Parts: sequence; structure tokens; C-alpha cells
Amino acid sequence: MTFLALGLIDPLLRTLETLSYQEPTPVQKQAIPAVLAGRDLMAAAQTGTGKTAGFALPILQRLTLAGVVAPKSVRCLVLVPTRELAEQVYDSFRTYGGNLPLRSFVAYGGVAIEPQISKLRKGLDVLVATPGRLLDLYRQGMVTFESLQTLVLDEADRMLDLGFSRELNEIFEALPKQRQTLLFSATFSDAIRALAGGLLNDPLSIQVSPRNTTTKTVKQWLIPTDKKRKPELFLHLLKQRRWGQVLVFVKTRKGVDQLVKTLLDEGVAADSIHGDKQQHARLRALDRFKTAQVRVLVATDVAARGLDIDALPQVVNFDLPTVAEDYIHRIGRTGRAGAEGEAVSLVCADEVELLAAIETLTRQVIRREEEPGFEAHHRVPATGAEAAVAKVAKAAKAAEPARKKRAFTGAPGAPGARSAAARPAASIPKGAVIVTAGRGAKSTARASAKSAAKPAAQSSAKPAKPGGRGPAR
Ligand code: AMP
Repeated sequence: MTFLALGLIDPLLRTLETLSYQEPTPVQKQAIPAVLAGRDLMAAAQTGTGKTAGFALPILQRLTLAGVVAPKSVRCLVLVPTRELAEQVYDSFRTYGGNLPLRSFVAYGGVAIEPQISKLRKGLDVLVATPGRLLDLYRQGMVTFESLQTLVLDEADRMLDLGFSRELNEIFEALPKQRQTLLFSATFSDAIRALAGGLLNDPLSIQVSPRNTTTKTVKQWLIPTDKKRKPELFLHLLKQRRWGQVLVFVKTRKGVDQLVKTLLDEGVAADSIHGDKQQHARLRALDRFKTAQVRVLVATDVAARGLDIDALPQVVNFDLPTVAEDYIHRIGRTGRAGAEGEAVSLVCADEVELLAAIETLTRQVIRREEEPGFEAHHRVPATGAEAAVAKVAKAAKAAEPARKKRAFTGAPGAPGARSAAARPAASIPKGAVIVTAGRGAKSTARASAKSAAKPAAQSSAKPAKPGGRGPAR
């Protein structure tokens, strides 16, 4: 099946060709014709399935073929839980709509509201927004929804998890009843079903499994090291392991530029892809990489979406991603179509929470290998169940002097409060709450087990506060 057969118009087909999207993914095969036909959708599809193009392409087509935008109004509203996802989805709309005369923008909290107000003044075909900031804009009278045609709820389950239901209800009240609604969610709890029941009209249900769960053909491992030594370590690995072409992921645009400069200074042919670069410059960098004119391509997550490079053996996570799902996207760039691939992460101490979130999401503990000469002076703490046990043992050890002191002075210990220090750490069952004599030891044990089980996207986003301007808004 081709994108042409799905009924997409020529400007979109040309964009897909530049992106080297050869055929629609399963979710796209089902969603595109349904959305083009104006149907509501209830889709169980996670990040990595190609769901964004599944809704963005047909929406862009419908917006192009009918209607114009009025001042302050929005024709398509995409609600997302986090600012990272907002940026990603906005970036996808810009990429896919590159050949279309449509106006889109993104609005989330934690940044100045004025540029968002100024963009809205002329009206927008597509607005991607987090609920809190959208509500701010709406309450200030900066946006109206009279001409809204389509509402998309992306990662609806995460929006509810993050406590956005009150904001969502207020937004839904302001929307016209006559509209198309598309709901995407990784999970379908009772709360999501209730939400869908009230919003959707005879929806088409779609269910697909993720395209890129961490693929078995990719060998994954990590090297613990100190942050400042990462550039040196990367150069060392490149030479010592005789890597051919490498795709390197760096967290920030500035970090990308710094690494490219270091590599070029060392005579390594390198180029970059990040959000400050125009699309044509990104495509040129990609082309230089594909034609082996550059050995190292350094990219941020957002900019790297859509990169489809065949037979790429080596991916390096110079920094760990702040959104755990991006790890799956990153390593999915290698080991494609059954080919062998390797993904190595350079991890420093302050990335341990991100590591724990990735390991929880991918249900694995990533193998650690120290690189002689680059050992971390700031130790990268253990992760997973091991971490919980180690933290409990540490807390128990910290409580030891107090316990001994009490024993010496003859003070009785709390009844039944057998110290964890009195037992070997390995015998402490996973998830157990250990009561020790030391204050705070109990909460340490709980917190460590909890943080090991908490995805990064959620741990970085605070629960909703009325009118709040938390990082996810
Ligand atoms: P998503 O699930 O929307 O976050 O997309 C996951 C990744 O797949 C993104 O990097 C997209 O650019 C890429 N992608 C989406 N559709 C296709 C396709 N039909 N062919 C190749 N890559 C795709």
C-alpha cells in the first residue's frame, strides 16, 4: 500500500518522498482514510507507531482543501500533555505541511505568553497546546474556537495522569459541538473510556502495537563517565573501536553545535541536525551523511524524528533523552529490518533518574561497561530493583551509629523495628518498606522504589495546579 493509494494530495506526497517514508505504517493505513472521510477516531497507539503522521497528514489535507482562518481563531486544536510532546507534534505539523500554505504554532507554559498571543492574533490553522496554557490564553480572550473543525487529544491517558481533567473539561465546554474528534491513548482505562464516550461520535477504533519496542537486534550498553569527559570519551571510542558512521544524539541544540565543533577541530567529518536549522539545511546534512560525506551526524531528538537511514550500525546517546520514549526512537534508528546494530549511551551521575525511567519503560537493566581511563569520579548510582536495595542498605548504614549508640546507653529499640542493617541487603525483598531506627530511612526506601518505577516524562512534569505555570504547561 502506498500513501498515494490512501488519497493524499500531491504536496503531501512530495514531502513524504523527501522524508523517505516509503509506505504507511499500520496506524497510518487505518487512520488516514478515516480522518480524510471526516470520521472520529479512538486509537490505541503509542509513540513510535507513526501515529503523528496518521493524524497530521489527513488534517493538513482537509484544512488545505476547505476553509480559511479568521483572526484569533483556530481550525485544528491538538492537545498534548507535555511541552516536549507539544514541540514534537508541532515540528511534525511543520514538516508534513512544508509544501502547504497553512499557519501553525505551539503554545505551552513556562515560556513567555506574548509570542503565542501575537501568533494567534491572525488566527492559526493548527494550534498544538498543553491544556494549562491554552486555558490561560482562552481566559484572556486571545483565542476563540467558533471555527474549530478538528480536535485531537494526543496521549490522552498521560493528560489524565498529569491531572489535567479539570482543564480539559473547561476547554471542551468552549468548543463547538459540531467537529471531528480524534483521541489517541496508549492505554484505555475506565477514565479514558468515559472521556471518549462523552467526546466521540461513532468513532472508528484502531489498535496497533508499537513499531519500535527496543528491538532485539540492537545491542545496548552504557558507559558510566563524568559529564565533562564525554567529548573526549566519544572521540576515544570512535578511534579505538573503529566506528564507521555514527548517529549521535545530544540533548540541546547548543550541545550539538559544541560537539560538532570538537569533532571538526579533531579532523572528524561531522554535521548536525537540530531545530535551529532550516529544513533544507537539515535535509542537506542528512544527505551528506547518507552519502558518507560525513562520518558523524549529531542530532537532537526533535530534529531527528523522521530520519530513516538504512543499515546504520551505530547509535550513540551522548546525553540520555529527557523523555524516556525517545530512547526507543533513538535506538530504533539502528538494527532495522533485522540488521545488527549497537546503541551505546554515555551516562553521567546526574542522568541516573533518566536512566531509571528508560530502564523501567523498556523493562531491562542496561548493561554497564566501564571504559578504562574514563571511569566516573562522580559515581553513576545503581538503577532498578538493585538501586532500591542499595538505597535501603545505605540508609540503614547511616542509621547504624544511632542504633549502636542506643544499644550502648541501654535505650530500647522500637518494638518489631528490626534494623535493615542487621540483615544482608540482598535478602531484602523488592519493594519492601524497611523500618530502621534512622529518621527518613523509611521514606528513602519508598521514594527510591517509586523513582525507579517512574517514567521520566512524568517525573519531569508536575501535576496540574489551577492556573499553574508548571514545566508541562
Ligand atoms: P510517531 O509515532 O508519530 O512519534 O513517529 C515515530 C517515528 O516514525 C517518527 O520519527 C516519524 O518521523 C517516523 N515515521 C512515521 N511514519 C513513517 C513512515 N511511514 N515511514 C517511515 N518513518 C515514519
